[in-house]
Amino acid sequence: MKPILIAGPCAVENESQLMTTAEQLHEVTTRQGLLLDFFRAGVWKPRSNPDSFTGVGERGLTWLGEVQRRFGFRVCTEVMTPAQVEQCEKAGITALWVGARTAVNPASVQKIADAVKGKPFTILVKNPLVPDLKLWQGNIERFLQAGVEQVMAVHRGFADSNENIYRNAPCWEIPIDLKVSFPELPILCDPSHLCGQTKWISQIAQLALNYGFNGLMMECHCNPSEALSDAEQQITPEEWGNLIQNLTFKINAPNADLIKQRALLEHVDTQLSELLAKRMEIVDEIAHIKKENNLPVVQPQQWQQVKERYLKEGQDPAYREFLTQFLELLHQASIQRQK
Ligand code: PEP
Ligand code: MN
Repeated sequence: MKPILIAGPCAVENESQLMTTAEQLHEVTTRQGLLLDFFRAGVWKPRSNPDSFTGVGERGLTWLGEVQRRFGFRVCTEVMTPAQVEQCEKAGITALWVGARTAVNPASVQKIADAVKGKPFTILVKNPLVPDLKLWQGNIERFLQAGVEQVMAVHRGFADSNENIYRNAPCWEIPIDLKVSFPELPILCDPSHLCGQTKWISQIAQLALNYGFNGLMMECHCNPSEALSDAEQQITPEEWGNLIQNLTFKINAPNADLIKQRALLEHVDTQLSELLAKRMEIVDEIAHIKKENNLPVVQPQQWQQVKERYLKEGQDPAYREFLTQFLELLHQASIQRQK
């Protein structure tokens, strides 16, 4: 499947900024033969600081409608309330995203899900600010249960108090677990909000593609340094085009060599699980002998010898670490069983 591409400014600031950005993106996509699936721009901006630019509001929808008509882009914008859903519907905007701040409140998300029920909206569900997989999954479920046909997830990173090179911590295991729980759901990466600075965007975008993400949402502005929000993470449409051109998109197609190696791996895994079951039977026998002979369950020297037998000098450090953890796990399971 073709990667899903979304680009556009963080916010609609005025008619001229929006039209110039859209026109430049149109020029770049035409020149490079790219299909932009959605043009993004927020008209309502939930900001931490009440004195920050909070968006132009409903009048921005008219300009977004104009972008749709003039350049043939499908536009998407952020909604926080059912009233905003209604305003978007009136303006002919049928792709909406739920932002990271709204996503922390299931009641608000449910209200939006109720408002889009039975209507032909595409919904992009950003991860909540907190690294809570269940909350993100629950939000997606709300839209699936409302019968929304096209639901997509967007990974934009998680707020944390650690000093990070990113604006938001990636916690890659969370979107990867989400992909496992919703294999059919397209999941996009938003490297702009993840990084917070333009210098890391292409590396993070490539990493996301290597992981198997289905697309990218990125912030583009005709004049990033003058942007009224997220100035440090926005790139120009021209830079966006270059960035996309230099990425390696992964092919999601069956591969005969991979299928063969997977079959071999499955065979080994089956043997492993049979061996582990056999090992447990032996552990039961050992437990019995120890009990009969009044011997302690934990015999540290014995365990030390086991580790020395398998952990050897010169092993790859990552493999050594894995083996140590694996042996510890086996030992713990064995003690647990004997107890
Ligand atoms: C945005 O996409 O501009 C935005 C506000 O996103 P998030 O909710 O991820 O911060
Ligand atoms: Mn933004």
